[in-house]
Amino acid sequence: MDVVVISIGEELLQGRILDTNANFISGELLKLGLPVNKRFTIGDKAGELTTLVNQIQSSSRLIICCGGLGPTVDDRVRAELAEVCGQQLIAVAEHHQDVLQKQAMIPELAKALRNRRGTAWGFACQLSKATWVISLPGPPVECRNTFLDGGGRDICRSLAQSCANAFGVFHTAGLPESKIERALGDLLDRPNLQIGINASPLQVSVSVLTQSRPGEISAEHLLEKTAAELKQCLGELLWGRDQQSLERVVVAELMRQEHSVATAESCTGGLVAAALTSVAGASQVFGHGWTTYSNHAKQSQLNVSDELIERYGAVSAECATAMAVGARQGANTDWAVAATGIAGPSGGTEDKPVGLVYIGVAGPSCAYAVRRRQAARSGRLVVQQQTVRDCLDALRRELLGLSCLPERP
Ligand code: AMP
Ligand code: MG
Repeated sequence: MDVVVISIGEELLQGRILDTNANFISGELLKLGLPVNKRFTIGDKAGELTTLVNQIQSSSRLIICCGGLGPTVDDRVRAELAEVCGQQLIAVAEHHQDVLQKQAMIPELAKALRNRRGTAWGFACQLSKATWVISLPGPPVECRNTFLDGGGRDICRSLAQSCANAFGVFHTAGLPESKIERALGDLLDRPNLQIGINASPLQVSVSVLTQSRPGEISAEHLLEKTAAELKQCLGELLWGRDQQSLERVVVAELMRQEHSVATAESCTGGLVAAALTSVAGASQVFGHGWTTYSNHAKQSQLNVSDELIERYGAVSAECATAMAVGARQGANTDWAVAATGIAGPSGGTEDKPVGLVYIGVAGPSCAYAVRRRQAARSGRLVVQQQTVRDCLDALRRELLGLSCLPERP
């Protein structure tokens, strides 16, 4: 039986408003172990909601509608849902003003969901023995409030208890999604696991949804068992889980070891330093970062020699290594990480194409660079973001004593 979100509003179909309510509801239901498996967006025309709900009712156990509860003529949701349920509309509060009264009407057998951020009440009612429908206001703050504090979530939670699910997301860096998929092997074919792979410039994440059936191990237990198997399959590519970010993992590890780091950046223009300093408490481990965009800056600030740049170029393993060594010395830190590359869209050559980046690492007993080919076709920002990820990951690997970041020539 499906869990469905219906977003209602012409403005959503026209692309004028981003549908943040459906995203919010999906995330909240997932936390309850009630993953959404269908979403619909419809306009405000009369009868559209009725037609859709009649189509999906018998295959759905929970339908959450967002929008269409306002006071204007195009806000037809309360009337249409009352009719689908075969119920009259009744008032949950008395108002003198028509506009307010209209928004305080709900189907007679529905449970009212209070909205403390606006005037439109939400409601929850049973369409049939097996199907609940919840109607929430459209404005995002009201949708959130009515769901979280008005009683919507409590109803979903009690529905969730009859089906046990657990969910986790596991984050990797170092290899593209096709290789992560291959590394997962037969985990992808298990009938009681729903696995998704999702790539962003910052990470490739593996989501796992587990379900337990009566008499089997619990969904939580199965999730933890799967987490252990993922660790086996993915090894040092795996760096975190759920809400963790790579920068937080790196800063936490530096703190734990009481080590410090400096940055020397060319093509990322300070984004690595920005990522590190986005973590609260980063001042314990980070004090210095250089943005050395020109050759002159690399020479004067980081002591990268003229001869080196002349011989190998600014985008080279030698230069990346020298930048890291210069930053580590200049800042007197345990570690330094450096990035130099061609972010594009122009400036590439046959030898040194757009997306070619070198990550330099200098530490207590190492100084080296790795070569990476970033997704040049995705544009300059993605090249930069992938380079930030690789700098952080190179550092993570060194701090944890793992092998160095794999080259991607
Ligand atoms: P409504 O309750 O349909 O009158 O919606 C009121 C306002 O809420 C709309 O004008 C939109 O700006 C906003 N809104 C409605 N639905 C959504 C949605 N799914 N996501 C984000 N904003 C929305
Ligand atoms: Mg509307």
